[in-house]
Amino acid sequence: MANGGKEGLTPEAARSLVDSVDVFIFDCDGVIWKGDKLIEGVSEALHTLRSLGKRFVFVTNNSRKSRKQYAKKFSKLGMEIDEGEIFTSSFAAAMYLKLNNFPTDKKVYVVGEEGIKEELKLVGYESIGGPEDGRKSIQLESSFFFDHDRSVGAVVVGLDQHFNYYKLQYATLCIRENPGCLFIATNCDSSGNLTSLQEWPGAGCMVSAVSCSTQKEPVVVGKPSTFLMKFLLERFKIDVSRMCMVGDRLDTDILFGQNAGCKTLLVLSGVTTLPALLDPSNSIYPDVYANNLSHFVQLSSL
Ligand code: PLP
Ligand code: CA
Repeated sequence: MANGGKEGLTPEAARSLVDSVDVFIFDCDGVIWKGDKLIEGVSEALHTLRSLGKRFVFVTNNSRKSRKQYAKKFSKLGMEIDEGEIFTSSFAAAMYLKLNNFPTDKKVYVVGEEGIKEELKLVGYESIGGPEDGRKSIQLESSFFFDHDRSVGAVVVGLDQHFNYYKLQYATLCIRENPGCLFIATNCDSSGNLTSLQEWPGAGCMVSAVSCSTQKEPVVVGKPSTFLMKFLLERFKIDVSRMCMVGDRLDTDILFGQNAGCKTLLVLSGVTTLPALLDPSNSIYPDVYANNLSHFVQLSSL
């Protein structure tokens, strides 16, 4: 780590990072907000970086909302961010299908929420499942046969707060019995800040259930996947060497940046604590770390 071991970040290290970067990729939860609360000093920090001519991209693994809904969330929190600067794992799933020429006459079964369904619709795919299937249940009588739609060609799994046995069986049958059916995970986060005060089980829990029942591994399209990074690099024509990934989670955000070869800044305003970062069992180290984004930007201006 550039600010090494237990030593705090120095103004020189912060300044040198800012000077060497044109584009900041910001993770959202734990960096910009926590649940629905803005993290202190973030608006000012973004404003300072913008005034230095830095470009931004916001990338969230949270698949529950679409990019449009996230633009609204930013606005509600007092920041006007263009929808084109926002990338969600729900959008990544839709783009993965599109770029792999998934046929529009096949359906997508969604274990997840509206964000995934909305992004799929925007690229022209018909989806079934999602929130509506949260109310469905199955009667496990001995004569019961559970049928499923044979025209489903892909199952997309993300965080689903109405995950149930019905959905698990439906996804399993599609993946097992529909020839060539794709199994896509928006992300595999073990937990998420669904509310501001607590962590909750993340999409990884639903993905593991489907993976266990099908005995198949998914294609992961959110952070830390190289699919999403390649997509960003192509869309923005970004020079990796002048880019910095800012995140609060080591196994998604920091790994995402490291896999691409860009600079990484860990902020301790989210899920990673300093003891966890420095624990000998941890093998993922950022280039630098700071208490939060505001602290980093303030140090770089000293
Ligand atoms: N998935 C869910 C359901 C979440 O609630 C969160 C964070 O709150 C995440 C993923 C991680 O989001 P991010 O990548 O913005 O940290
Ligand atoms: Ca995060």
